[in-house]
Amino acid sequence: MDHETLFTRACRVIPGGVNSPVRAFNAVGGTPVFVSSGKGSRLTLADGREVIDCCCSWGAVILGHADPGVTEAVARAAAAGTTFGIATPGEVEFAERLIARLPGMDRVRVVCSGTEAVMTAVRLARGATGRDLIVKCEGCYHGHSDGLLTKAGSGAMTAGDGAETAGDGLPAGILRHTLTIPYNDADALARVLDAHRGRVAAFVVEPVAGNMGCVPPLPGYLERAAALTRAAGALLICDEVINAYRFRLGLYSHGAGIEPDLVTMGKVIGGGFPLAAVAGRADIMDRLAPVGRVYQAGTLSGNPVAVAAALEVLKRLESDPPYKRLAARAKRVADGIDAAAVKAGVPLRVRRHATVFTPFASDRLPTDLAGARACDTALYARFFHGMLRRGVYLEPSQFELCFLSDAHTDADADAIIAAAEATLQEDC
Ligand SMILES: *Cc1c(COP(=O)(O)O)cnc(C)c1O
Repeated sequence: MDHETLFTRACRVIPGGVNSPVRAFNAVGGTPVFVSSGKGSRLTLADGREVIDCCCSWGAVILGHADPGVTEAVARAAAAGTTFGIATPGEVEFAERLIARLPGMDRVRVVCSGTEAVMTAVRLARGATGRDLIVKCEGCYHGHSDGLLTKAGSGAMTAGDGAETAGDGLPAGILRHTLTIPYNDADALARVLDAHRGRVAAFVVEPVAGNMGCVPPLPGYLERAAALTRAAGALLICDEVINAYRFRLGLYSHGAGIEPDLVTMGKVIGGGFPLAAVAGRADIMDRLAPVGRVYQAGTLSGNPVAVAAALEVLKRLESDPPYKRLAARAKRVADGIDAAAVKAGVPLRVRRHATVFTPFASDRLPTDLAGARACDTALYARFFHGMLRRGVYLEPSQFELCFLSDAHTDADADAIIAAAEATLQEDC
């Protein structure tokens, strides 16, 4: 089926034809693609074309599409009943396995999306501190709850009025409780904490920012931010919805020597299903209902099919950690695209951090949102479409991370580089 026809039909019944805005290709133009199936590193599009996938469901797929072990675990779980609204043994095993990899954290609660996880973490921080204000960084995305949709990067940046807010429908009274500062700027954090002394409940941050493209923390930034937050009596919420289990087993924060008070996880840990989690120390987490007075709930939270998939992925990552392979392959791809851009004389530089990367249409690598916004998004759009025509699906926006899975091979890497060489020479 051709994508034009599908998209026309979709637009009649779904706002903008998509169930999540960035899928609509608004940032790169053209008709969005539809996927019929995926296997390993490949997607088969609705028009029958096969492409190499560098989105991997925004990082939610780390073992590759339709992994046989995950597929079997899911089939077995589904055959035993898909949801009960009653606790299941799998949830206990999943929580135990996660907690075992999260030193200093005693409890985890499973929810259905990263948005919910961060919403819950923020509510917990407010409940625990008795304070209302939240500090977040410009260009970091923490899901689409009202209070966190200001200067939110990612799809909100593409869809909204240029990163100031995500647009309409956000009450001023709620946004007043969110203060924003540049990422990678600990002095700005110190100033805002000082100006609102005794009123900030939490500083929420993506340790490796991924929603303005790949922007890793500058040396010392996270350490200093953690110390300042603690000194102000506020809680540090590390939003590791992308980061957790993408760089190592467990949290990026712990690998970097940071101890968040609360952490949110999603994408990889969901095993390709709507599953995310918030974790923290018992004294904070036990404020959640039914123990405490911070309310949070969910009909499908800890869904047995999702938990089965998530458990299978977790076990596989633990028995054979893929992180060295993933980083080596990401390096091969990133270095290859970078070299191709230099050779073609195109101002496009690839920023890689371990297992993830972003081709920035700029000759300077950004350290914050202002730097990311200086990129030539029209050039990125030409690069994206040239790559797609040549069989490589990149993220349909400049302000995202590209992901590879453990199913991507060196041959895939070389095919991506060859496509980039041709695209940069001929289309950019
Ligand atoms: C994707 C993302 C979210 C939101 O997760 P959803 O499952 O899409 O609701 C929150 N925080 C970060 C850092 C993310 O990348």
